[in-house]
Amino acid sequence: MTGVLRRFLALAACLVALMVAGTASAGPRVMIRGFRAWQGPRYIRLVFDLSGATSDRTFSLPDPDRFVIDVRHAVLATSLAPVAHSPIVRDLRVGLQPDGSERIVVDLKTAVRSHTFLLRPYPPYGYRLVVDLRTAHPAVQHIATRPPHAHRRLVIAIDPGHGGDDPGAIGVDGIEEKNVVLAIGRDLNRLLNATPGMSSFLTRTGDYYVPLRRRFEIATEHNADAFVSIHADSFPGPVGRSATGSSIYILSRRGASREAAYLAHTENASDFIGGASLDLGRNNTLLNHVLVNMSQTGTIQASHQLAQDILGQLSKLGPLHTDYVDRAPFMVLSSPEIPSVLIETEFISNPVEAHKLATPWFQHVLAYRIWKGIMRDAKNLRARRAPGPMPPRVHNAEYTVKPGETLSGIAVRYHVTVQVLRATNGIHGNRIAAGQRLLIPIYGAQS
Ligand SMILES: [Zn+2]
Repeated sequence: MTGVLRRFLALAACLVALMVAGTASAGPRVMIRGFRAWQGPRYIRLVFDLSGATSDRTFSLPDPDRFVIDVRHAVLATSLAPVAHSPIVRDLRVGLQPDGSERIVVDLKTAVRSHTFLLRPYPPYGYRLVVDLRTAHPAVQHIATRPPHAHRRLVIAIDPGHGGDDPGAIGVDGIEEKNVVLAIGRDLNRLLNATPGMSSFLTRTGDYYVPLRRRFEIATEHNADAFVSIHADSFPGPVGRSATGSSIYILSRRGASREAAYLAHTENASDFIGGASLDLGRNNTLLNHVLVNMSQTGTIQASHQLAQDILGQLSKLGPLHTDYVDRAPFMVLSSPEIPSVLIETEFISNPVEAHKLATPWFQHVLAYRIWKGIMRDAKNLRARRAPGPMPPRVHNAEYTVKPGETLSGIAVRYHVTVQVLRATNGIHGNRIAAGQRLLIPIYGAQS
């Protein structure tokens, strides 16, 4: 948007606010001053930028299907751009209600399940009202229920960082990390799926945000053997403009260096920028527990080996930024059972490297090197499938399944493997019911 247009819209917004101020019961109205939509598979996220906090009321109407959002004490000060080519949304309409609410009616092409939440300000955003709509009857998901078997294909989860409201790092000429890493991820996905004995999938297939915890839940649901998160590095100021080369990380409680800690902090902020309605305050506790169970299952050692093999390949592209496997508390690497690495490809804050990262040939070269690194480690990943000794158990906790919960979701939350949950509770497959009681093994080092 040009500066002139931005100023004009801001002025128009002020005028609207002045006009409606007379009818407001208390204080100035909240302005809805921005709108955008992000589409994923069977999913759309509508984001409304608000000038302040307010509450909302939502409901669905059938025949024809509509979703209604009443934003209390608010007024629309932007235009609702049409949502093109959406399998879910047909149109958007607005109308001021007698009680002072701005009503947004979403005309739907299909019935939806909804989740609406208000995000607190986090730079560069102010308050945002987020409306997630999913098709009510998702296509049957072919989630892997295969037991860990030595002869099945190796499954690699490819995790392109950021997406949607979260562009990641932004380089010269508006080159955005989220687009670069999605392109590399797609290349890698093609290479792996074309390799005999291998298969892969993307945790994010388009320009929409996936919360960090959801990313490794998806990997768990697909019985992934490894999790490879792809990012592009960035550092502020002159240091970032001249920094070069790739690095690779595995999980640790603390950043090994100041730079590693800074990087983990910025990457973990994704949930605040991209927008996740998660209980983020529990991250630290989660991480401590995850590390306990990870060390029990050998996941850290396996992550290190995978990282080492990929780093060896990345070193063939030129000098590395860090020539050893680095460690930092990246939330997205917290899968208790899946060897997980995070690759920081070259520096998007460096203008020369940003231009290189934006070109399809270099994206393909990077994908090829990552592919080769994974192939080098394939034997180790395969060996992990052989059932090992169970870690010593301290006691079982009892858990009652809530509506909508999945076995893999519970496994991730309690930092145990799905296989262990199945074995402890005599469950075959993934089917669990609300109200069902499960025993959750709690391993050593927990009080
Ligand atoms: Zn990133």
